[in-house]
Amino acid sequence: MRQFLHGLIAPGKVPTPTLPTPLDYAGLSREELTARITARKVERNAVILGHNYQRVEIQEVSDYLGDSLGLSQEAAATEADVIVFCGVHFMAETAKILSPEKTVLMPDLRAGCPMADFVTGPALRRLKEEHPDAAVVAYVNSTAEVKAESDVCCTSSNAVAVVKSIPRDQPIIFVPDRNLARYVQQRTGRDNIIAWDGYCYVHDDMVLDELARARKAHPNALVVVHPEARSELLEAADIVTSTAGMVDVAEKNDAVIFGTERGLVDRMKAQFPEKTFVPLSGAAVCGNMKLNTMAKLAWCLDHGRHEVVLDEAIRVRAHRALDRMLELSGGWSAPTQEEAALELAGVRPSGCGCS
Ligand code: SF4
Repeated sequence: MRQFLHGLIAPGKVPTPTLPTPLDYAGLSREELTARITARKVERNAVILGHNYQRVEIQEVSDYLGDSLGLSQEAAATEADVIVFCGVHFMAETAKILSPEKTVLMPDLRAGCPMADFVTGPALRRLKEEHPDAAVVAYVNSTAEVKAESDVCCTSSNAVAVVKSIPRDQPIIFVPDRNLARYVQQRTGRDNIIAWDGYCYVHDDMVLDELARARKAHPNALVVVHPEARSELLEAADIVTSTAGMVDVAEKNDAVIFGTERGLVDRMKAQFPEKTFVPLSGAAVCGNMKLNTMAKLAWCLDHGRHEVVLDEAIRVRAHRALDRMLELSGGWSAPTQEEAALELAGVRPSGCGCS
């Protein structure tokens, strides 16, 4: 491996080594990177959490695979000192919220979630001032600061149940996904939900034309769409459900058109090669999730960067909003052996957002 030494050398001066960058690792082979990651993981007593939509090679070196909340909860239950979260920023924050005593690292700080970034703490505080009686429900795809400003969190699986638990005459501010908010509004029949105008570009960009083309090409296939998609897509779908629900549909049906991030579709196709599984849109790919690479992961473990740090007051308040959600949905329990095997194979994510 080449020397990591950068910087200009002034005449007569001893050169100062600077921190190498992930680019310095880019020339290493897959085997070298895997060996390096595996060794460092043991040295640091670290676990690697890989979201369902990570690159395959990252999934292969991950200790746990799953969705953001499930991964964070599994990590909180381990003895590891260090959590390396291969996902997007709000997910690493959620791990830190649940495991404040552990060091949480991210391979690439730019791996953010555009949907989460639609709403900030100060902007939400301003809306709360306009609606002082409203309860605030935050989709888990939100920053720690936004969770801290919220009364309760929700996932796409439990959003309807969480909203139903709030007195019917109390207004609700729902952040940040306008599409999920509209879906919940329809399912609960409430007319007092104030939806933030945010969205997931991966799901919001899917259009009716694509759905019609997919139906025409696969007339016998069921169309399942995630509630982060636009309402016209949900109306045209046979089933609207979270990724966990989509996995159930996949297990029970031979032909399915999936309206969600295509990483899930590809993995289910690998699991059930004899079935006809197609993405509703070939363009439904989350580039933010794919920013993490093996080179960045090896760099991250070598140098203990980038650490996720949260203000303690924010962390405690955000934890409270997550706890309320878990109380409402009967808490979280570790997957059974059978479910864990399916999760490892990538076919049973437990269904929180961006999934
Ligand atoms: S898929 Fe959508 S919600 Fe998930 S990280 Fe990407 S932009 Fe965010």
